[in-house]
Amino acid sequence: MTKKPCSVCSQLKDYAEIEYEADTDRPDFAAPYENLKITEPTVRNATGLIFCPECGQYYLEREWTPGGSEDALKTCYYESIGRISHLTAHKAIEGAVTEAKQWAEKNKQNAFGETRRKAYEELRAAASIEFKRLEKHAEKIVQDCLDALADRYANSNTHRETLERFYPGSKDANEKSVQKERKKDGERAAYTAEILGRYLEKIESPPLPLGLEVIRLLGDKQEDVSRAVYLPLLITLGKMKDRKEDLQKIYDELQKLKDDSEPAANLSRYVRRLKEGIGTKEFFRLPEEGWYDLSITDDVLLRHLQKLPGLKIINHIPPGYTEATIDFEYQGYEFSTDNGYLKWCWFVDEDCPEEILDEIKNHLRKIPQNS
Ligand SMILES: [Zn+2]
Repeated sequence: MTKKPCSVCSQLKDYAEIEYEADTDRPDFAAPYENLKITEPTVRNATGLIFCPECGQYYLEREWTPGGSEDALKTCYYESIGRISHLTAHKAIEGAVTEAKQWAEKNKQNAFGETRRKAYEELRAAASIEFKRLEKHAEKIVQDCLDALADRYANSNTHRETLERFYPGSKDANEKSVQKERKKDGERAAYTAEILGRYLEKIESPPLPLGLEVIRLLGDKQEDVSRAVYLPLLITLGKMKDRKEDLQKIYDELQKLKDDSEPAANLSRYVRRLKEGIGTKEFFRLPEEGWYDLSITDDVLLRHLQKLPGLKIINHIPPGYTEATIDFEYQGYEFSTDNGYLKWCWFVDEDCPEEILDEIKNHLRKIPQNS
């Protein structure tokens, strides 16, 4: 589905700047930026944000007067308008609210206290209207977050290049400085993941590719990133319970991650249950008697399954943090087993005929058991 280009702002450049001297007429921007709308006035004053009334694209307006001009007798004004991502807009608004709150706290006891508190309350109310507007672009913001997370070390990498070029001799000091920047990059990434989670929950029906990309964050090396998306994913996957094919793909992705990621292992179990509710049935538990039989390890089971002619192993995940899993195919049906409840639980496509299930059960009953 291709979207029609926006009639208001698709012709505008990503960035435009004007410059004029004091006591001269202010020139117009070359393009019709005037059709862009002001955001909530309080937010506009605090952040410089405006937006396109048709497509919701955000822009940042800035004005400045540089000090120490080349010709001291001349005062120049500068103005710029630049397109910014919805994520940047969100961060700008949230940053302004946080700053206003800090000012209110700092001045609590003095003469400015009342004014600062009022300013904060006003900005917070306006920001909540602006956040509602941003929610309509939740999918876009989640994508922005994913892009930012993929490129999270851009800052410290540029910093490293600069240092290496200008101070090639001071390797140790450079490294120290780079690590400091890296830490800041990491903190920003954790914040981005938190925003991602908040907007993910607002998407009514998340498209599969987006879901898969977010799922991959569960295997992220930065633990606070993986933790930040866990709960929103849980909520989101629940909304996908009728999308069986998509859930299967999500399950496959989780299986790839779950050895290295506890959140992925947990979600994997959850998605398995979702799948059970939508056309997968449990048909057997092993051992049939008693609570468990420690001699039935995944290796023993794997060897035994492979003895049944025509059975094809699709996937085997040895026990990591949690249970082991074996997926296989037999007579055109997909089976899956794992020992999540100490026993091996066996699942199969709901429409698999009983005769085939009996074949599998009879074969499993012949497994060498210790008890
Ligand atoms: Zn537009």
